[in-house]
Amino acid sequence: MSCDPKTDLESVEEFFEYLTTDKLPEHWARRWLRKLPPRQAFEIIYYLQEELGLLPDTFEMCRACRALFDSDREGTCIDSTSRLRGKPVPMKYWGNWHDECLPERLREIEDD
Ligand SMILES: [Zn+2]
Repeated sequence: MSCDPKTDLESVEEFFEYLTTDKLPEHWARRWLRKLPPRQAFEIIYYLQEELGLLPDTFEMCRACRALFDSDREGTCIDSTSRLRGKPVPMKYWGNWHDECLPERLREIEDD
C-alpha cells in the first residue's frame, strides 16, 4: 500500500462508498464500522476537508441525489450570498447541487 495520500474525487467517492455501504477495500477481511447514512458519511469527509485540511474542500455532496462532485468542475452552491431575481434565496434551498439536480425554479441563481 502506498503512503501517498489519495485526494482525488474518485478516491473520496470510494471512501464515501466504504462509509455508506457494506463494501470493503480489497484485502480487508472484516468490518467494525456500521454503514452510515450519506449525510453522516459526508460529515466525516467535511471534517477531513475543513478541520484537518487533508482533502480538497471542493468536493461537495449534492443535496438532491447525495452523490459527490467537484465544485471546481460543476454544480451550484446556494448560500446567504445567493440571489434569485434580486432577492435572497430561502435557507431551505441552501447547499450544494449538481446543475442537473437543481430545481427548475432555482436555475436563475446569481452569485455575488
Ligand atoms: Zn445530484
